[in-house]
Amino acid sequence: MLTPNLSYANLKESYLFYHIAQKTGAYLEEHPGTHLYRMGIGDVSLPLASAVIAALHAAVDDQGTKESFHGYMPECGAPFLRETIAEYYKKRGMNLSPDEVFVSSGASDELGDILDLFDRSNTALIMEPAYPAYVDANIMAGRTIRHLPSGPYNHFLPLPDESIDADLIYLCSPNNPTGAAYNREQLGQWVAWANERGAVILFDAAYEAFIEEDLPHSIFEIPGAQTCAIEICSLSKTAGFTGTRLGYTVIPKALERSGLSLNAMWVRNRTTKTNGISYILQRGGAAVFTEEGQRQIHENIRIYKENAKVLMAALDEAGIRYWGGKNAPYIWIQCPGGMDSWAFFDRLLNEIQVVGTPGEGFGACGEGFFRFSTFGDPADTREAAARLLKLLK
Ligand code: PLP
Repeated sequence: MLTPNLSYANLKESYLFYHIAQKTGAYLEEHPGTHLYRMGIGDVSLPLASAVIAALHAAVDDQGTKESFHGYMPECGAPFLRETIAEYYKKRGMNLSPDEVFVSSGASDELGDILDLFDRSNTALIMEPAYPAYVDANIMAGRTIRHLPSGPYNHFLPLPDESIDADLIYLCSPNNPTGAAYNREQLGQWVAWANERGAVILFDAAYEAFIEEDLPHSIFEIPGAQTCAIEICSLSKTAGFTGTRLGYTVIPKALERSGLSLNAMWVRNRTTKTNGISYILQRGGAAVFTEEGQRQIHENIRIYKENAKVLMAALDEAGIRYWGGKNAPYIWIQCPGGMDSWAFFDRLLNEIQVVGTPGEGFGACGEGFFRFSTFGDPADTREAAARLLKLLK
């Protein structure tokens, strides 16, 4: 008889957003017509940039004539997009060749699929609080997980020490949910640690475009990273592609383990397991990196950052301790009065109709903390900030 992947039985119920939806649904049933100020889910609210829309339309038209029609695309990405992304790195001082860039349909897909490159016996070290998919993808793969906790004591930026041992490590900077971002010296410590042990860093750079301080946007800004890191990127938050889907992954050719090139292995994997990403989407994605596209996406990011400022001003005035907001679209607050994160969720929903995300959903060390997303509507964010201030002051 067939045996399913029994590791799935080890997954915990993924109840975070389901539970939030249930609680808000119940509230609305009891209070019909009430407007909720939603700052929970990390989905964007602004539409795609007009440069992207124009490129998508043009690409649809390309598919309508024999001369410009495209069939299957190259599995690792269209050369025009791989070159464009390599150029984006070059402008920021990093030399990558286009064949070190792999076009993907998003970071989530890659974070799970990339595990094909590593043996099950490897131990995965996961910084926490973190995006829950890191843990679940490794449980599904049957891998042993070690948790790398963080908290106010290390500014939510855990660093390596002699006691830490693992083969794969997940780093996310700027971090979801805490908004904390590593500086060069700190990332340098992780790169040195990984190179010493032959470990591989999976660096999630989904929020690099939100960095406004002088901090690294990419692990490849750190000398030595080319021999120990894979970078996973997404246009979801950078350019509003959550519902359009496009991302990219960088695997340097210098990254080898046991005499095998991880870049060559990923080529083999993609050419077997995918038939490439839609031509239309790749044209839309390339438009993000044009001068006009960059200007437009940064205008949207500026609007989200205004939301962050409004919320941070309210939290400052209310004397609430928080992290993030500056280099990330998330603000991570300490629940006032030692409240637990679901109790605080209930209080905000019931008393001021504001919806956020309880920190406990991002790992045990998220208990006692709460995440606000700044991707919401600016008018709603202003009203939510005013209500928060009144409640918490
Ligand atoms: N990585 C992090 C840290 C995220 O927060 C998210 C989405 O919220 C993703 C990856 C997934 O991105 P994508 O939409 O490209 O799958």
